[in-house]
Amino acid sequence: MITLAGLSGRPVMITEQQLDELVSGLGGPVLRPGEPGWDDTVTIWNGMVARTPALVVRPTSAADVAAIVVFAREHGLLLSVKGGGHNIAGTSLAPGGMTLDMSQMRQVTVDPAGRVAHVGAGCLLKDVDAATQKYGLATVLGFVSEVGVAGLTLGGGLGYLTRRFGWTVDNLEEVEIVTADGEIRTASRTEHDDLFWAVRGAGANFGVVTRFTLRLHEVGPDVYGGLIAWPFARAGEIMSAYRTLTAAATRELSVWLVLRRAPAAPVVPEAWHGELVCAMAVCYTGDPTAVDEALAPIRALADPVVDLLDTQPYTVVQSFFDDDEPNGAHYYWKTEYLARLDDDLLATVRDIAEHCTMPDAEVGLLHLGGALNDRDSDDGAVGNRDARYVFGANGMWQPGDPDADSYRRWVRDAWTRVRPFSTGGNYVNFQTADEDADRIRDSYGHNLDRLIDIKTKYDPHNLFRVNRNIAPRAAR
Ligand SMILES: Cc1cc2nc3c(=O)[nH]c(=O)nc-3n(C[C@H](O)[C@H](O)[C@H](O)COP(=O)(O)OP(=O)(O)OC[C@H]3O[C@@H](n4cnc5c(N)ncnc54)[C@H](O)[C@@H]3O)c2cc1C
Repeated sequence: MITLAGLSGRPVMITEQQLDELVSGLGGPVLRPGEPGWDDTVTIWNGMVARTPALVVRPTSAADVAAIVVFAREHGLLLSVKGGGHNIAGTSLAPGGMTLDMSQMRQVTVDPAGRVAHVGAGCLLKDVDAATQKYGLATVLGFVSEVGVAGLTLGGGLGYLTRRFGWTVDNLEEVEIVTADGEIRTASRTEHDDLFWAVRGAGANFGVVTRFTLRLHEVGPDVYGGLIAWPFARAGEIMSAYRTLTAAATRELSVWLVLRRAPAAPVVPEAWHGELVCAMAVCYTGDPTAVDEALAPIRALADPVVDLLDTQPYTVVQSFFDDDEPNGAHYYWKTEYLARLDDDLLATVRDIAEHCTMPDAEVGLLHLGGALNDRDSDDGAVGNRDARYVFGANGMWQPGDPDADSYRRWVRDAWTRVRPFSTGGNYVNFQTADEDADRIRDSYGHNLDRLIDIKTKYDPHNLFRVNRNIAPRAAR
């Protein structure tokens, strides 16, 4: 007999025979604590998350997923889905319940003529970029290549290409999804269009997506990008220049501003190790002959202490920050969408960075805008079409650090100071475990009521609840 957490809040007993019946119909294994592969699944990016499932199932097909969903529903089990395991709130793991680990479904098929990629739900961003770049194609994905495509896409998805092509979900053509009734459905703008609309921004709530079909664009294989940094003493000048250059930038140029202490990395001159710097992460994907003109406002700042800007493969730029935020450290973030960079906001952001005592903290302003502002606010559940920047106060420390409480306080204080400048919206994919239902409402705004209707239709008993949850009507 195995005891698992149940949907009702009470434990559920599963017999060995019931489990054997499930396993015998699956192409992949069911893992119990301590078995080979167990640690890989239950160890996730944010080491601060203390959750362990009782069972892990590793499906290899949509049919496997359907069988698992039916099993979980019939037995009333708490169920979660793990893509890349990078969600900061740790929502890939069902505490005491059953976790569906999608890592065996990691295939990418590129159709270069049709300009789409069919992406398995266990893929990491690097799988897709590697496969599509063989054809000089790419879709909108984030800037750390170890993140899962599934979680990123289902919450909206943003990256260096957002200014050209919108949210990742603006490039989503179709999903294959197993809904709570165990049906394998195709959802697109023409089939189950309500479900497709909801999946584009609130997707973890509506089923288990087994395949994403993403539109591709000509990008790379070489682009111009990397990192450039100046002394923090010049922060006022650099931040003001950042505002000017982002206001005028073409959509081919994405520049993100990062205020932090320089790491002790070989590419950083030793004198700057641990010193506060004002950095820009740059990706220019336009006409290579126009790169000097596009980058002129950055070059005009002169005298950087680090300059790693160069022509390089798009896949290198996409993985530039991979080592900055390693698996297993403790992470705590707060973010807000901004419509503009007022003087007061810039001064506040600068002050937040200057008075930070956490060695590995980052304060960032990510430039969005462009294509994502072109569409209507109800074009997909993702909304937030008024976002032109994201502010983030990101904390990282090692397990057991005695200053953890003060670090968390710094993040929260920073957030409190920046909230008055917010559009009112925020990115659901950046929400931490302590953010409540109000934050989810803020993420979806006027799209939330429609999401509740669609949730009530496809998942009336809230089987898919280990996520940033949108409860169906009956549960409210
Ligand atoms: C270092 C780092 C960098 C990041 N950079 C970016 C960035 O550049 N751009 C950006 O947009 N976001 C970024 N993010 C945020 C990221 O999008 C979210 O953390 C996202 O949830 C990660 O997806 P995942 O598959 O790795 O997560 P997981 O933790 O595996 O899953 C996240 C959520 O999605 C659900 N889910 C997973 N797979 C499925 C599925 N197949 N069907 C249904 N539900 C599923 C899970 O239940 C869970 O609730 C970053 C995060 C980190 C940690």
